[in-house]
Amino acid sequence: MNAETSPILRIESVAKNFGPVVAVDGVSIDVLENEFFALLGPSGCGKTTLLRMLAGFETPSAGRILLEGRDISPLPPEKRPLNLMFQSYALFPHMTVRQNLCYGLEMERLDKAEIRRRVDETMATTDLTQFADRKPEQLSGGQKQRVALARALVKRPKVLLLDEPLGALDKKLREKMQLELKRMQNEAGITFVIVTHDQEEALVMADRMAILKDGRLLQCGSPEEIYEAPADRFVANFIGVMNFIDGRVTEDRVFEAEGLRLAVVNARPGPATLAARPENIAVGAPGERLAGTIADIAYHGLDRVLHVKTPAAPVPLQVRVPAQGGTAYQVGDALSLKIDPARCRLFAGGGA
Ligand code: ATP
Repeated sequence: MNAETSPILRIESVAKNFGPVVAVDGVSIDVLENEFFALLGPSGCGKTTLLRMLAGFETPSAGRILLEGRDISPLPPEKRPLNLMFQSYALFPHMTVRQNLCYGLEMERLDKAEIRRRVDETMATTDLTQFADRKPEQLSGGQKQRVALARALVKRPKVLLLDEPLGALDKKLREKMQLELKRMQNEAGITFVIVTHDQEEALVMADRMAILKDGRLLQCGSPEEIYEAPADRFVANFIGVMNFIDGRVTEDRVFEAEGLRLAVVNARPGPATLAARPENIAVGAPGERLAGTIADIAYHGLDRVLHVKTPAAPVPLQVRVPAQGGTAYQVGDALSLKIDPARCRLFAGGGA
């Protein structure tokens, strides 16, 4: 991220209460121009409420929302240079794809040639040119989804807000559309803020993302930053798979758990939880070892995940090993694990 880039959208200490319910609790986020930004969190974390405040459908109980430095909080939705794409596509069923796209621009009373130019350009970006004369009922789910997106893009909002845009699609189409959506965002040169509860989706699409829980912002950063350096135990568990080992750090900087001793630098003595990704635990390597037994083996195409019972944790540790070549593992095998402390996170306090 370039420190000199000023944010196109600034969410400043925004809060929203619904009576006694605190839906959004003092959230501050800067979204940069041309970013694909994801708001991610479990159900009820406040992400939709935050998006609705950006769009102007809800009024913040506190805080400000600035677009290009200007406070847009007092503006009604239709006066905001942002566009919200709804979960349901809300296409006009009696109109063709082209007419669906023209409609919003005709409402703005743009001249005919300009409308035609913009609609043609947007249909090209969203791969809809060949469907221009079809009606929504003659389109597949993925195509309808692209029309809904095209209809939002054609109005050239400064920021496009998308609420679970791929929620209605099946897994395969969803994965294809994730990449397409990212490409279209890039080509259109428009900032996207997307709400999703799907971690994989956010990791694949977003340049940066914000993780919310109980209305609070837990962490904001690139997918790599959040995967490699999760701010707390919740984020670590929410993004990707994480093994947790509860123990304590001794005065001489050794992390101790049942059956495990690991030298750790920069750790404060006291109760702590060690968090290790499955790819950061190796099998059978010499060095600091943790004895365990294979309880289960899951095949994932390129690799296998061994679920290894150890005295250090109440649930089996997940260890990623290559599926091709190497050792043939079997349930019940005894083995030793080497955890690389340099690739792990240590959370002070321990416990769940
Ligand atoms: P989901 O993924 O399930 O859609 P979300 O993260 O988008 O969840 P929100 O819809 O923003 O969550 O809701 C956040 C909290 O605010 C929830 O506890 C919800 O019940 C509450 N809430 C949202 N809208 C209202 C409302 N109009 N009146 C009262 N409570 C509301």
